[in-house]
Amino acid sequence: MTWDRVRGHDPARQQLLAAHRRGRLGHAYLFVGPDGVGKRRFATEFAKALLCENPPADLTACDRCPACAQVAAETHPDFSVVRTPDDKLELPVDTARELVANLALRPVRGGRKVTLVIDADDFNEESANCLLKTLEEPPAGAVLILLATSAERQLATILSRCQVVRFHPLGPADLKLVLLDNGVTDPATLDRLVRLSGGSAGRALALADDAVWQFRQTLLTAVGSTRPDPVGLAAKVIEFVESAGKDSPAQRARASLAIHLLTDLLRTAVRLSLGSEVPGLDAAERGKLQAVAAVGPDAIAVMLEACTEADGYVERRVQLAILIEQLADRVCRR
Ligand SMILES: [Zn+2]
Repeated sequence: MTWDRVRGHDPARQQLLAAHRRGRLGHAYLFVGPDGVGKRRFATEFAKALLCENPPADLTACDRCPACAQVAAETHPDFSVVRTPDDKLELPVDTARELVANLALRPVRGGRKVTLVIDADDFNEESANCLLKTLEEPPAGAVLILLATSAERQLATILSRCQVVRFHPLGPADLKLVLLDNGVTDPATLDRLVRLSGGSAGRALALADDAVWQFRQTLLTAVGSTRPDPVGLAAKVIEFVESAGKDSPAQRARASLAIHLLTDLLRTAVRLSLGSEVPGLDAAERGKLQAVAAVGPDAIAVMLEACTEADGYVERRVQLAILIEQLADRVCRR
């Protein structure tokens, strides 16, 4: 049962299953939800279920036939995955044209053709317009799945022609299952990761990485110092971001992770500064966060605003080093 590996998102699955049973499966779906909650994995299972040669149940893949294996490996001739190129800010019109041309071809295996667009947030007017005709008069058997972080960011051209399936942050129980699936078994670590992940399995798994956890300690020491050093802090964050490799999406993901770690530390400091009880902190952590808390909730709120702003810019692909230096400067102001 391959859906078992999708944790959470039962309403989304029921929505698709009900449509399938009525013979009313759509030809264009917009999967909307925050990063790291499992939209991509869900979409892959959906594609597998659509292309499986031997489905054991309604809209369920067998996970054994060649088609299932090929979808998982992204080598199935009737399954394509479209991404925004690393060096581009938007989904280029050429990529959209290629997608449309490919979807118009008859399925090689005679069934359906499924196209998954990973970065639907990146459509611009021109590339979205390319899809217009495909969305209005879809080729027989074509299914287009678009992944996006918010419906509000989508152009009306796309939004009005797709069926929207909503994905929500995962609850603690589902998050724990994802972590267990990935070999995290220590109960204290599980609790800590669930607490820090904000319902994103992607973030929880990133934090399960020792290097990331060490970086969190580095951040804590830097901001919790009595005289924080913006230059030193920026250097450490940049080093962490660049350790993701040369690949720009990986660096952006790291930068976003660093900002979320910082946000989480600052939020905890706000709670301490307001005198709230914060369970699960060890003495060293509490001491450093008290030093931040001492600047008062209003000053920390300003730092949190800087984090939110910076996170928005990460997605807009500005120069990461400059962004990080500015953020470090605002967070270290006392
Ligand atoms: Zn199969």
